[in-house]
Amino acid sequence: MFKKILVANRGEIALRIQRACRELGVKAVMVYSEADRDAKYVKLAEEAVCIGPAPSGQSYLNMPAIISAAEVTDAEAIHPGYGFLSENADFAERVEKSGFQFIGPTPESIRIMGDKVSAKQAMIRAGVPCVPGSEGELPDDPVLIRRIAKAIGYPVIIKAAGGGGGRGMRVVHTEAALVNAVAMTKAEAGAAFNNPAVYMEKFLQNPRHIEIQIIADKHKNAVYLGERDCSMQRRHQKILEESPAPGINRKLIERIGERCVAACKKIGYRGAGTFEFLYEDGEFYFIEMNTRVQVEHPVTEMVTGIDIVRTQIMVAAGEKLPFTQRQIAVHGHAIECRVNAEDPYKFTPSPGRVTMWHAPGGPGVRVDSHVYTNYFVPPNYDSMIGKIIVHGDTREQALARMCTALAETVVEGINTNIPLHRELMVDAKFMAGGTNIHYLEHWLEQHKR
Ligand code: ADP
Repeated sequence: MFKKILVANRGEIALRIQRACRELGVKAVMVYSEADRDAKYVKLAEEAVCIGPAPSGQSYLNMPAIISAAEVTDAEAIHPGYGFLSENADFAERVEKSGFQFIGPTPESIRIMGDKVSAKQAMIRAGVPCVPGSEGELPDDPVLIRRIAKAIGYPVIIKAAGGGGGRGMRVVHTEAALVNAVAMTKAEAGAAFNNPAVYMEKFLQNPRHIEIQIIADKHKNAVYLGERDCSMQRRHQKILEESPAPGINRKLIERIGERCVAACKKIGYRGAGTFEFLYEDGEFYFIEMNTRVQVEHPVTEMVTGIDIVRTQIMVAAGEKLPFTQRQIAVHGHAIECRVNAEDPYKFTPSPGRVTMWHAPGGPGVRVDSHVYTNYFVPPNYDSMIGKIIVHGDTREQALARMCTALAETVVEGINTNIPLHRELMVDAKFMAGGTNIHYLEHWLEQHKR
């Protein structure tokens, strides 16, 4: 096992990784920007290194600063968390070339999966079902583009090969709008992701977003840890997640889980990862793979009892997976609500001083957050300030527990989306289970204020 790991992230995930390190008896070196000097995990750290000013380009995305922090503190491995450099193949490569273990897959795996076109091609080869679409990147010739769309059938969605975070996508309903939409998405993709390549997919009308968590070691062992339903989205961004996915036949989940495991073995994947699918009419369609720990990993931890971050560290250190597929069972139901510092209905960010923070508790309640009373939420980063996760024997019990937990939570000084979560937890359709990816936006439209 490693003696020391550098945590190259901030916020709740930095704290989450620090906790896993502590449990394993591994020292965690925390890095921070000038805006995060007062973060809880920095105060708790045995060692912490300032890596630059507030803008992430000069701190959390600053590869030389992070690698030198690992050098001066004698860390052996770097955990990238999610976001920032976690899916940057060049970073993973530089980490390994500098003699550190990157806690994640190989740079090659990150590279293949980071380009959604090559990821889809790899999945097709590995026998994972994909959304019908263009075979690769779209050509420039308008005649060919129209021909591809016609073969797929309208509506179609144009997506950036290098896209992420719900950006770089455009839905097209008619042939008249097609060529212009492709040109606009290309231009945006070039500017935002430094990669103008786009591809086309059938736009599924009423799918759910279902994803499979996998984890693999360096000894060709891989398992899947059940699924998560992340259909509650606004602007393609998840706001709450649950496991298991309500109303989906376990046999179907097992079948797709086994496909994902087979694909991991085929591509020589190591570490934690997530296969994201759209699910419609009993069929799964792969959309992308995330080669890192995800925000919503706790719901899987709650139902399987497996610590994903701890296991990530163990397999990166070369250990074998401590469980087999047959030993993994899903118990009860878990739900996660992402707590964002924002107006609950207008969604404008609400950074600032948290004058009062009171976290909920009780059986089956978990809070992953770096916030404390008097903490200042910096305006420089993502608005998520924590997650409330509950577990119950049944989905009904989990819903009831989440209602209680949300009612107990007190955050003063800034706005949060907790009022929105409280409404959703008692929404009849959500309570019934199985709402699709458009549900939240329709709901917000109907509940405009
Ligand atoms: P990102 O990497 O930006 O998260 P994804 O490919 O994972 O992009 O897609 C994000 C979301 O966009 C999905 O969860 C879904 O809501 C929507 N989406 C993507 N592709 C399609 C499609 N072919 N049909 C319908 N919705 C889609």
